[in-house]
Amino acid sequence: MRAATDIYICDGCLKEIRKGDLRYFVKIEGVCATDCIQQENSADIKEEINGLIEQMKDMPEQELVRQVCSERYYDLCPGCYKTFFDGPLRSINEKNNNR
Ligand SMILES: [Zn+2]
Repeated sequence: MRAATDIYICDGCLKEIRKGDLRYFVKIEGVCATDCIQQENSADIKEEINGLIEQMKDMPEQELVRQVCSERYYDLCPGCYKTFFDGPLRSINEKNNNR
């Protein structure tokens, strides 16, 4: 997160990262895998696409975009960067363990 010229705020711990301090820029990109639509025959594809269109017709545009692809950008201090890369799926694992 950019706070002012030459000053960033760590998106993990909210500490200031000043010009010259070590800072990591992390970009996360999620894209819907193209093989999620089975390509057995064209009639099946047509039916599958119609089904998807039907499911999506009431969704807000922003939600549709988010389902196809999403990007996140983070500025991290060295400590948060290490924590992040030591366990990028930690939040998912914790969520699944709390069920
Ligand atoms: Zn941090």
